[in-house]
Amino acid sequence: MRLVVVGGVAGGMSCAARARRLDETAEIVVLERGADVSVASCGLPYHLSGEIADEAALRVQTPQRLLASLNLDVRTGHDVTAIDPARRVVTVNTSGGAGEIAYDALVLSPGASAVALPVPGADSPRVSTLRTVEDARELRASVLSGARSAVVVGAGFIGVEAAENLREAGLDVTLLEAAPHVLPPLETEMATLAREELRALGIVVRESVGVVAIRPGIGHDTVELADGTLIDAEIIVSSIGVRAHTELAETAGVALVGGAIAVDAHGRTSVPGIWAVGDAVASTHAVTGVVRPVALAGPANRAGRQVADDIIGTRSPAGRWRMIDEDGAVRGGETAWTRTSEETGVRAVKPLPKPLATAIVRVGGLEVAMTGANRRDLIAAGFEPITLHLHPSQHVGYFPGAQRMDLVVHIDADGRILGAQGVGRDGVARRIDVLATAMRAGLSATDLIDLDLSYSPPFGAAKDAVNMIGMTAENVLDGQLPLWYPWELEERMGDSLILDVRSRAEAASGIVPGALVIPHTELRERLDEVSAAAAGRPIAIHCQSGVRSYLAHCVLRNAGFETSSLSGGMLTLRAWLGDRLDGVLVEPAN
Ligand code: FAD
Repeated sequence: MRLVVVGGVAGGMSCAARARRLDETAEIVVLERGADVSVASCGLPYHLSGEIADEAALRVQTPQRLLASLNLDVRTGHDVTAIDPARRVVTVNTSGGAGEIAYDALVLSPGASAVALPVPGADSPRVSTLRTVEDARELRASVLSGARSAVVVGAGFIGVEAAENLREAGLDVTLLEAAPHVLPPLETEMATLAREELRALGIVVRESVGVVAIRPGIGHDTVELADGTLIDAEIIVSSIGVRAHTELAETAGVALVGGAIAVDAHGRTSVPGIWAVGDAVASTHAVTGVVRPVALAGPANRAGRQVADDIIGTRSPAGRWRMIDEDGAVRGGETAWTRTSEETGVRAVKPLPKPLATAIVRVGGLEVAMTGANRRDLIAAGFEPITLHLHPSQHVGYFPGAQRMDLVVHIDADGRILGAQGVGRDGVARRIDVLATAMRAGLSATDLIDLDLSYSPPFGAAKDAVNMIGMTAENVLDGQLPLWYPWELEERMGDSLILDVRSRAEAASGIVPGALVIPHTELRERLDEVSAAAAGRPIAIHCQSGVRSYLAHCVLRNAGFETSSLSGGMLTLRAWLGDRLDGVLVEPAN
């Protein structure tokens, strides 16, 4: 059996290595058009600053080592240009000319390429992308040769990482984003925190503005923005998105969906004998059901491993690998390959799980992480998400070094967890990973109350942030805690009394116009004042983080008022307003 893998990085190499571990006799050929295999793509941005100083560290494996340890036939400089599925051969271009290689099973993991900046002047030699070791090497060389200024176009994950590392290297960096905020998948109220951190690093952040032209010059290029701004830059990194590599698959007549290769739950394409994984394939999002590529390393690696299982064989009840003909007949023997499990009915390789698209990025000193879907995608998919905002510390407040985490969690009316995001200096990755695990396991938001999570003062709290999410969810779902949201501010100012229950010192930093300020500790004695100010209207309470306003809500509810509590309090309101804050908040009257 000859397994041919196209693409020797995340998905492809995981597949090849797993196939070898399952089958010592298979011939496994990996064809990679680049000069390297097993490249640490995710590490590339950190080479720009020298945080990963040694370029060699970005090459995790070499063909020689892969031959020695796994008996893999890894061929770099091999560009696969066509597939003939009827003859089961691929056409390969090398520096020595073109040739054909036959396969029994073919796995495509060709990844994606950077979308070209669609503006005049984008072909300037100063414009580069960040996809390959060569890109990183050239950018690092520009930094080391004394470049002083850089513009990064696109503030997605890779753009933000590139900007941060170029800044770290001492350059003046401008980060441009055409969408309303950096890291577009983030909620607005979370993106504000990332933007502030980028600014604190000294990066100039421009949002809601596109590039219209690059004007090549001597010594530097000039980037022209849609609003007429001109920015000189010696380095321009274009990071405006990726496009799945589908051209090769198309030569075999493989079906596409959403601009990517269509695969079933076992990674099989529409053409027998051809599987596909990684950035080039479309996946069904676990929450929204939207079918599109999820360009992340984890799903690519795991799919590569699982596709190898699907190809190489199945465990018989006796635990042996079976050899199966394409017509489903078991041929006997311990090791061989099979075509499909469904067709033969013999195998039981579990389907690939639908991705949650869990992701994390470092922004200065912040961990910025997310899993599942954001509010915009949920609404577009027909959900009516209930959003919770929490601002717990990563560990108990009395232990030195307590840091706030900003968490957003979306649930539905049945308590299903739909998505979560976190921003903070410590402990965010752990909480988002627990939530991703809970979602994968099908736990409801209220199940989070019962998670038995590790605790001692330097690490957490007896009621961990994740437990607190569960408790808040339960309060909201039970109707004990009606919430209002920053995006309803104007509406609430019109139809409700805004009651600010923070301390006077906190309120001095700015209040919502017309708000009545009564610290929550004084509320029980001042109910008459509340009643007079409300004049029969509902009361929209808020505090700093949402905790004291919940307490105030309980007091007022028991006194017969109709109240709700601002989700996440002033912290979330401020983050939601972002740069618009100054035009909204006013000084308190007393
Ligand atoms: P790739 O790893 O891109 O491999 C595809 C390979 O196929 C390439 O080497 C290409 O040369 C080769 N190829 C393509 N066509 C052919 C052909 N016709 N013939 C022969 N060879 C071919 N993901 C995360 O989860 N976390 C991160 O922090 C993260 N950071 C990233 C940072 C950067 C700068 C980049 C570029 C990506 C990052 N990613 C990250 C994404 C992650 O690297 C990809 O999701 C993952 O590598 C996809 O694996 P893949 O096998 O589909 O494609």
